[in-house]
Formats: sequence, C-alpha cells, structure tokens
Amino acid sequence: RVKAEGRNNYQFYDQSMQQQARWRWEIEEGLHQAIAKDELQIWLQPQVSAEHFIIGAEVLLRWQHPEKGLISPIEFISIAEESGQIDALEAWVLDRSLALLRQWQNKGLPECFERLSINISPAHFMQPGFTSRVLALLDQHAIDGVNIEFEITENLLIENFSLASKTMNILQAHGISFAIDDFGTGYSSLRYLSQLPLNILKIDRSFISDLEHNNNDASLVEVILITADKLGLAVIAEGVETSAQEAILAEHGCKIYQGFYFSRPQPAASFYSLLTAQNGFLKLVSTV
Ligand code: C2E
Ligand code: MG
Ligand code: MG
Ligand code: MG
Repeated sequence: RVKAEGRNNYQFYDQSMQQQARWRWEIEEGLHQAIAKDELQIWLQPQVSAEHFIIGAEVLLRWQHPEKGLISPIEFISIAEESGQIDALEAWVLDRSLALLRQWQNKGLPECFERLSINISPAHFMQPGFTSRVLALLDQHAIDGVNIEFEITENLLIENFSLASKTMNILQAHGISFAIDDFGTGYSSLRYLSQLPLNILKIDRSFISDLEHNNNDASLVEVILITADKLGLAVIAEGVETSAQEAILAEHGCKIYQGFYFSRPQPAASFYSLLTAQNGFLKLVSTV
C-alpha cells in the first residue's frame, strides 16, 4: 500500500512537472509569434488623487492567446526574461504606449492627467541599447506635457547600482521619471533611495490588503509615507480594494491610490472613455 501510494504520488508529481514544462514551452513558443500575430494588448489602470481625479495610469500588458484566452503578465513576463524575449516585448509595449498617449493628446486629455507609468524589466533596463531605444521612441512619438514614468523594482538597483543610476540620470535629463514598484518587498537600502533620481515609491499591495486588521502593516505604511515625505518622494498605494483602506491611507497622508476599489485595469479604449467621461473625475460605482 505504501509503495502504491508512493508510486501514485510520484506519477502525479511527474505529470504536473510535465504539464508545467509543456505550458512553459507553449508560452515561450507562442511569445515568438505574439507580436506578429497582434495578440498583445495594452491595458491601463487609473492612478487617482485624494479627490478622485485620474492623475495617471499604469500600463499593464495582456496577451490574448488564441487557445488559452487572456493571459496575465504574471504567467509570461518571467518566462520572457529567461528566454531573452523581454526586450522585444517591452520595445513593443513602449512603442504602443507612447503611440497611444500621442493619440490621446491629439484627441484631448483632461488637465489632471499628467503621467503614464510603464513597467520595465531589470533585464531590459540593463541592456546597453535601452537608453537610446527609449530616447528614439520619445522623439518619434513627440510626447510632450504628459510625464513618462518607468516602474522598476528595488532588486534592479542592488544588482548593478552604478549602471542603474547612470541610466536613470540620463533618462531623467530627458524627462523620464522613476517609481520603485512593489516597494517594501525587495532589498533596497535607504541610502540607495536618497542617491537616485526617484520620484515615487509604490507601496506593495501586500502591505495594503490587511491594513484594516493588521497594526504592523499600518505602522509600516506610516513609516514608508513619513520616509518618502522626508526624502521628497511621492507615494502611490497599490492594490487598494476598500474604502476603509483608502481612509487609513489618507489619514497617514497618502495622496495617490491605485487599486480595484477605484478601477480594474481595462483595455485602452474603455480607459480613455473613463478618463474623459467626467473630465478626469472618477465617479466610483458603489459596490456591495
Ligand atoms: P505591478 O507592476 O505591481 O502591477 C500591479 C498589479 O496588481 C497588476 O497585475 C494589477 O492588475 C494588480 N492590481 C491592481 N490593483 C489591484 C487590487 O486592488 N487588487 C489586486 N489583487 N490586484 C490589483 P497584472 O496586470 O496581472 O500585472 C502583474 C505584474 O506583471 C505587474 O505587477 C508587473 O510587475 C508585471 N507587468 C505587467 N506589464 C508589464 C510590462 O509591460 N513589463 C514588465 N516587465 N512587467 C509587466
Ligand atoms: Mg507596476
Ligand atoms: Mg506593483
Ligand atoms: Mg510587480
């Protein structure tokens, strides 16, 4: 019996390993074609002020797979990083995002909307050609007025501080600003924060999700807000899902929010409708 069980377990384990390997392979192969087949999409999630104006948006990549349906970036970004496809993928994201922004500027944007945030993978950021690629795209799409912000993670800074800071300084001189994404989950030191041309810390969702019930999380959020303020950095709270969370954050001086409570990420056309429907004001649909 024991043997049989062991064998069953083994087979189960083996099968799931095989399934994982197969899934991985399908993702990797599919990604090669995804751009050419026009399967990638730019989705956007609003970033809102305390007064509930949409002051910016984060670009979130989606992959509309012909058989697997809509795939989250969590499923394919790390695979793209490991297989060396991330540069091509993010070059597409950058190009499409800036083209979209140009299009909106032509059609008209509410005055409150001042920033488009784009996630940049460390592997891509550290590529020798990254800076010139970005500068060429900014030039090509003639973006003005709206700030382009890159979201990077703390670990990128640790791995190669001097190259990272050099790249950031060049891009900052061309109007790009920087946010630390998932702040609080990585390894950045306070010294790094003060030495880099940063604008924003995005408090990771994991500190927000239990904010109402977890005093330690509330204390950490408070410390982050005070620290950021002292360093002259703005803060965005990520993953805000309830009005109670918003209230606690507001009480501690948080001024920018992003999360399902305000709006889920959505396709570009519906985001633009939401943005322009009330001149940038986000009317919350009451949820039960
Ligand atoms: P992120 O940059 O931290 O983006 C925020 C993620 O949290 C998004 O997941 C968003 O949908 C989700 N989110 C926002 N508000 C809430 C909320 O209230 N509750 C919950 N539970 N989740 C919320 P998404 O779109 O699945 O993206 C996951 C991650 O994939 C992103 O995390 C980012 O690290 C990465 N990603 C997305 N697009 C790109 C890209 O173009 N390049 C790179 N390198 N990474 C990307
Ligand atoms: Mg992000
Ligand atoms: Mg994040
Ligand atoms: Mg993340």
